[in-house]
Amino acid sequence: MSVSGHCSICGAAVENVQHVLRDCPETIDLWRQIVPVTLWRTFCNLDGDRWLRWNLCNRGGSKQVDDWKLIFVITCWWAWRRHNTRVFEGKRVSNHAITASVNAIRISLTEAQSRFQLVDGRRSPTKEKGH
Ligand SMILES: [Zn+2]
Repeated sequence: MSVSGHCSICGAAVENVQHVLRDCPETIDLWRQIVPVTLWRTFCNLDGDRWLRWNLCNRGGSKQVDDWKLIFVITCWWAWRRHNTRVFEGKRVSNHAITASVNAIRISLTEAQSRFQLVDGRRSPTKEKGH
């Protein structure tokens, strides 16, 4: 984030975490590609902690999009990373590149999770057959 408080990307008067993660025009366009149309109004009108809780507590798009919490967290991480890449390195990262990466990371994490199973209340690697 900039020292002036103005967004280094769009020039908006407020550059805070919510602006970077959701409200910057480039990020809004990214979310438009991900958030179901029926949830868009709520997604955009919640602020701060309520927005985070709504997305992280299985409400967000979870009823219409599998793995919503995972997609939400990875997309937030990418929004933050893209902002910093633009500010500190002057490089652009397209929404297309981000959505492709989010999907690839989501698939990798889901596959890694499926290799673990709960044994005696603890997670441990699934034993492969024949071992
Ligand atoms: Zn901005």
